[in-house]
Amino acid sequence: MPRAIAIQQLLFCIGPVTLLELVKDRFSGDSFYSLFLQDNFPIGSCYCNAPPELRRVKTILNYGLPHKLGDEFIFDVMEDIFGRDGIKDIINKMFISRSCLKIMLNAGMEIGNHTHTHPFLTHLSKAEIKEEVITADSFLKSIGCTPVTLCYPFGGKLTPQVIDVIKDCGYLGGCNFQYSDDVNFGKENDYNLLRIPG
Ligand SMILES: [Zn+2]
Repeated sequence: MPRAIAIQQLLFCIGPVTLLELVKDRFSGDSFYSLFLQDNFPIGSCYCNAPPELRRVKTILNYGLPHKLGDEFIFDVMEDIFGRDGIKDIINKMFISRSCLKIMLNAGMEIGNHTHTHPFLTHLSKAEIKEEVITADSFLKSIGCTPVTLCYPFGGKLTPQVIDVIKDCGYLGGCNFQYSDDVNFGKENDYNLLRIPG
């Protein structure tokens, strides 16, 4: 896996072992996926329970590499550990199906947009942000849902550019990743809504 080796060299923070050696036999497929590809930062998450060197790897993948390259690297490592069929099983287990989404919609639940490939929107150009939003929007519309809110992947510091695109796409609000007890009192910025701690 030449691409993975090249990126591995960038990840010198994990020391002389490769990421593969570090995680093999220590992670189930879903916890590996959750740690590296999801925005799991709350206490008790895979991220908080992971060893510090793996948290540093996640930080570099999220902040130090272009979004697609980081994802490709993780999928290369996952393929080495779990195989292609294993990856399919992990994805089927972790993601909601189209039919389940329809059941939720029919039960009156609101389904929001979370972008197409789950990048940090603040790392993208205006055109790239728009593509992320409208691709996911089109999928949701194809199952009968018209999303009006969006949850920003990984939260992070929002920029006016991100909010402008969301507004241009017709969204009425956006949910950030930060938590606060002081929410929903009518003073919030609709495009920077905080979460209630669980
Ligand atoms: Zn997410």
